[in-house]
Amino acid sequence: MIRQYELVDMVRTYDPNLDETMLNRAYVFATRAHGEQKRASGDPYFSHPVEVAGILAGLKLDTATIVTALLHDTLEDTDATQEDIQQLFGTEVAVLVEGVTKLSKISFTSAQSEQAENFRKLLLAMSVDIRVLLVKLADRLHNMRTLQYIKNPEKRSRIAVETMEIYAPLAGRIGMQEMLEELQDLSFAELNKEARDSVLTRRDFLRQRTGESTARIAALLKDTLAEKGISATVSGREKRPYSIWNKMHRKAISFEQLSDIFGFRVIVGSLDECYRALGVIHQTWPVMPGLFKDFISIPKRNNYQSIHTTVIGPDRQRVEIQIRTAEMHEVAEYGVAAHWQYKQGVAPNTAGLLQDPYSWLRELVDMIEEGDSPEQFLEYTKLNLFIDQVFCFTPAGDLIALPRGATPIDFAYAVHTEVGDSCVGCRINGRAMPLQTGLQNGDQVEIIRSQAQTPSPGWESVAITAKARAAVRKFVRQSQRGEYIALGREIAQKAFRTEDYPFSEKAISQALTPLMLSSAEEMFEKLGRGLLTGQQLMEAAFPGVKMRSPQVPVALTALKDGRRSRSAAIPIRGMTAGIAVHYGDCCHPLPGDRIVGIQTSGGGATIHTIDCEILEQFGNTPERWLDVSWDASGDAPDFFVGRIETTLSNEPGSLSVLSTLIAKNQGNISNLKICGRTPDFFDMEVDIEVRDVKHLSNIIAALRGSPHVSKVERTHG
Ligand code: MN
Repeated sequence: MIRQYELVDMVRTYDPNLDETMLNRAYVFATRAHGEQKRASGDPYFSHPVEVAGILAGLKLDTATIVTALLHDTLEDTDATQEDIQQLFGTEVAVLVEGVTKLSKISFTSAQSEQAENFRKLLLAMSVDIRVLLVKLADRLHNMRTLQYIKNPEKRSRIAVETMEIYAPLAGRIGMQEMLEELQDLSFAELNKEARDSVLTRRDFLRQRTGESTARIAALLKDTLAEKGISATVSGREKRPYSIWNKMHRKAISFEQLSDIFGFRVIVGSLDECYRALGVIHQTWPVMPGLFKDFISIPKRNNYQSIHTTVIGPDRQRVEIQIRTAEMHEVAEYGVAAHWQYKQGVAPNTAGLLQDPYSWLRELVDMIEEGDSPEQFLEYTKLNLFIDQVFCFTPAGDLIALPRGATPIDFAYAVHTEVGDSCVGCRINGRAMPLQTGLQNGDQVEIIRSQAQTPSPGWESVAITAKARAAVRKFVRQSQRGEYIALGREIAQKAFRTEDYPFSEKAISQALTPLMLSSAEEMFEKLGRGLLTGQQLMEAAFPGVKMRSPQVPVALTALKDGRRSRSAAIPIRGMTAGIAVHYGDCCHPLPGDRIVGIQTSGGGATIHTIDCEILEQFGNTPERWLDVSWDASGDAPDFFVGRIETTLSNEPGSLSVLSTLIAKNQGNISNLKICGRTPDFFDMEVDIEVRDVKHLSNIIAALRGSPHVSKVERTHG
């Protein structure tokens, strides 16, 4: 375990602005907070955050990041609070620690690897600052290095899969090549130990056969270059087992065909020396054709620069050689972290590395979307990534990516159109929530479904995704048409009954040609929409026949006298309110009321109670009146809204008496408006959800019985 002074010394070597007091305080704070806790390895728990801090110090990160590493598990695993950290270490560290804690609460549960990309995006979206992600990656690296101590094999393999699918690629995305390779190899050791062992055996065999060690080849390279006056740092390494195995698989080649099991880095002082070193190497050993790449002349899009070549080296062993300057090397090795170092050393306006301070952001977005750039060159700063997206989980752990502002309705349609169409409610993180709730990153959303449910027209304004809106619109349009057709059919049947003609397919089809319509459905739809009247239909079906009662206007007086014929009434209850049939806002008709329909041109019918005052306005247009009745057999909506006017005594508790009485009688107040107030009384309008007129009458009777209620009446238009 790295000791306190060792850590401080490490950071001091590269960070002249080191806040030594804060670093010491963090070390002590974390030791105390974790106390006697132990790791699976038996080590004190505190060794873990210290090692994580050590990994990040190796990447030369700033004091705030190192302090965050020391504190990263204190919020979750100890008694320490956000306030403690804020007070002792300031806002910057508090925000970073909270960020890492949030990331740790998310675990990758889906077995589907297509989900991995969304998951990586979620982690990036939640890493407000790139340093949060760096701490998380270092945390994962240390956990992987100590994975063998975890006893449960399923847990080990779950962590390894998560590392391979999520964290290693993330490290690659932000340019941490070394971290990427180590994470992959550690996962490989857990997930496919046999394959890894066999690669290791063959690599060892190769080493024995050639008798070469990387150290010897490196020394040879260095000497050869020195003879020609080029001073270089040469480091050699063997490709990691996972990289070897992966390349064999990807390119379907044998171990012997791999050209780069031994790789060497030649770091020189200047750009000029890169090309001179290349010349010396190509003169000394034969070059392998087709494997030479000059990324100095043409850098990769992410600014990675290096010359790659492969030669047949000593003992006829192929070796890959990368030649670059020290500065290019830092960028290639440490990605984001390297850039952070440059930034720290350079005054802001002389930082020639960044002409456009936001170019890195665009690059990062490109890179993440395309996912093809292992080495990256970025500025560390706020990671405002995917601010236009949210990522939410299904109960099964699948991730759904949605635009910001999306609601559970969008979520339901994103899962499947059927799920959206049958959605009745939702639970967000286990709590029942309204369907118009805005979703947040990491929310777990459970859609409650019912086969009896159909999309509500109002959803169109709640949903924000094109898929959900289009599905709702399509459904509404379809069901609207279906309802107009049903309503139109009723109107046609009524017209036949009125004239005493049997309703027949034949008569209907006879009417089509004179009306210039192509199908009976089209005709019913027009009738339903009020674009065609029953009288016009009869005249078209039976041309020249004198109508017995040329569309007797169903006059208001006739209805009020109760002279309407029951059998001719159109049953309306099965139709959904809000589509073909609307209920008047003036009189709030309820099942049990005597009602009348008024056809609106192109808009279906509005239902009013027979004594609604608004009906006077339609006295001169009897052709728009529809004789309608409640259909007791239909699938009725569960409740209707009735409206009452009431006068309550103006004293404490009278409002609560009103609401209690309504609730006791199974009514639900849906709206409440105070219309007037005097010192003694106040007048209110109350909308109550009830089953039918009888239900509302019961409530009115109950209210009349209360001493607080001086007057109560149902509203009539
Ligand atoms: Mn940890």
